[in-house]
Amino acid sequence: TPVVVTGANGWIGARVAAALHAAGHTVTGVSREPAVAADAHPGWSWVGTGDDLDEAVTAAGAVVNLAGRNVFEQRWTPEYVEVMRRSRVDVTRRVVRALARRDGPGVLVSGSGFTVCGDAGDTELPDDVPASRDLVLGDVYADWEEAARGAPPTVRVVVARIGVVLGPAHGAFEFFRRPFAEGRGCVLGAGTQWVPWVHVDDVVGLLVAALGDDRCAGVLNVVAPTPVRHNELAAELAVSTGAVCGVPEAADAVRDRLGPAAEMIVTSQRMVPRRALELGYRFHAPDLGAAVAELAPPIRGS
Ligand code: NDP
Repeated sequence: TPVVVTGANGWIGARVAAALHAAGHTVTGVSREPAVAADAHPGWSWVGTGDDLDEAVTAAGAVVNLAGRNVFEQRWTPEYVEVMRRSRVDVTRRVVRALARRDGPGVLVSGSGFTVCGDAGDTELPDDVPASRDLVLGDVYADWEEAARGAPPTVRVVVARIGVVLGPAHGAFEFFRRPFAEGRGCVLGAGTQWVPWVHVDDVVGLLVAALGDDRCAGVLNVVAPTPVRHNELAAELAVSTGAVCGVPEAADAVRDRLGPAAEMIVTSQRMVPRRALELGYRFHAPDLGAAVAELAPPIRGS
């Protein structure tokens, strides 16, 4: 069956598109530069973000929506926060309008992220907690979720609240791993904050499962079944890189260094994948120690 993937040239999107393609779906990727994206991923077809996007979505009726300016790209000035917001909301509204033009049913699996849970301390966060606007990126994600929920009732909407994604050479995992690999790793912030980590293979697995499972609607926490405190993540990284954990960097110092984006590191979200487990999803990487050891193998001899 045909599926449109927005952000299909991105780190997660390309993996999702490849998995759907491998499973026999006819994939159409969406990119601001479809010709460039087609060079990188010639395995499926590409459209731009204009009328061709509308046509592809109306025809396919199934969409995985992951487009949005990268949260690690630059410092979060007020202007860049609006760029992050618009890039997600505008594409999503366009997708929703195109789905509404269809006669038949549709499905939209649309992105969101852990910051929409706010800074929640030790409280366990199942899928149905209301979106919080307390954090800067959480506010952006709340708007992104709202845009997806604007789809007509003929469309099954899944809002995928993606956790801190651990995967090779990119984004969150690289941010955490590199200082340890360079011998300057330490606990960031209090260390007791919960990290809603998830292996990138499970992000792909859960998004693909959500697309295909008619029982799945509403918010889906895309996180591992074993959230850990930041201390434990730091300890695992120290073990895998053979490094010593240095003096902790206080939350205020992390905020001075990273600006508002520090909220992704020093705040706490103890998310649990209740709905995924209820649906019978089996995690590829349920255990943090094994995931870190796979992604950052211990240095031999250390
Ligand atoms: P990437 O930054 O790797 O990919 C996002 C893609 O979005 C880009 O490849 C880009 O494609 C596209 N894009 C950017 N701006 C626009 C725009 N204005 N219009 C249309 N497309 C645009 O992100 P990830 O794959 O890492 O993440 C996917 C989504 O999941 C993100 O939106 C992110 O917010 C969310 N998420 C990610 C987490 C993570 O740890 N990675 C954690 C929680 C949530 P092109 O250049 O081809 O147009």
